[in-house]
Amino acid sequence: MKDRYGRTIDYMRISVTDRCNLRCRYCMPDGIESLPMSEILTLEEICTIAECASALGIHKIKVTGGEPLVRLNCTYLVCRLKAIPGIEKVTITTNGVLLDQYLEELIDAGIDGINISLDTRDRKRFQEITGSDCLPEVMGILKRASDIPVPLKVNAVSLDLGRENWKGLVELAREYPVDVRFIEMMPIGCGRQFPAMNPQELLAEMTEEYPGIAKDPRIHGFGPAVYYQIPGFQGSIGFISAIHGKFCDGCNRVRLTSQGFLKTCLCYEDGSDLRAIIRSGGTEADRKTRLTEVMRDTIFRKPAAHCFEQPGQITETHRMVSIGG
Ligand code: SAM
Ligand code: SF4
Repeated sequence: MKDRYGRTIDYMRISVTDRCNLRCRYCMPDGIESLPMSEILTLEEICTIAECASALGIHKIKVTGGEPLVRLNCTYLVCRLKAIPGIEKVTITTNGVLLDQYLEELIDAGIDGINISLDTRDRKRFQEITGSDCLPEVMGILKRASDIPVPLKVNAVSLDLGRENWKGLVELAREYPVDVRFIEMMPIGCGRQFPAMNPQELLAEMTEEYPGIAKDPRIHGFGPAVYYQIPGFQGSIGFISAIHGKFCDGCNRVRLTSQGFLKTCLCYEDGSDLRAIIRSGGTEADRKTRLTEVMRDTIFRKPAAHCFEQPGQITETHRMVSIGG
């Protein structure tokens, strides 16, 4: 559907849990309590909301979290979402630690793409960032990339990336058939305490290192990443620059939090509590009608743009781990 600014909204990120097996310092550092399961949407509730979303023109879904693969029956959910008429693509974003265990089930479920979040190839640094010594598990998946029949992308939230660090990540796209994307840190939750790297500066440094780097005009997904190719590399290098390269004019997405709140912009708490509707009285048909009406109205009112460049105006107080990134 179109929002009030004429943007086509066809993409929903669904956070299926607020729990995670890592403790990334910019997202879910130690000491953060998880919500009781009764506050988290059930898989059935998620599917009902996805059906209403599909009726409103949402065709692409990203399963996220917390860590989606710690949610029991996450792969079954992918299968159910794929079966909803009108849903064309279901992809997942994961820290990759449990991917070896669930890869086959995800592929059988029909997953259309897998994003792996990885900020460094240095084992000690990985442990410092995530609180866990799980880099070998994540690298194990990347080493198998050429045998994995769905597109893989690596997402790095470029904290204080030094040359050695970003170069190690860029080289993944030479060694394996994966796109590597650098995502600008957003001032949400614990991310506020970290500097946002300027992607233009990073690109300039990369150009010194790889003089043949050139814009890649191909479309790689349904997000705002801008891609570059380096001669001889199997994958492309992408930049998602929410702050330095504001892309709100073309924003196509809404977010469903693990508690069932339909969120229309990362920056603000604006949105609607769908869980309250789905758990209210009446027949299932009544609830679906109400859900669809509220979702239509909420999406229509999506704000024009984020205000990350004016931090005083940010109203979002939740952490990224509960929003889903
Ligand atoms: N656990 C999964 C993962 O790490 O991919 C899914 C959830 S995680 C919240 C989704 C993405 O959000 C990750 O790539 C993570 O690096 C990113 N993220 C977390 N906090 C962020 C922030 N403040 N700004 C930008 N991206 C952030
Ligand atoms: Fe967990 Fe992903 Fe957040 Fe890291 S970024 S703490 S893996 S939810």
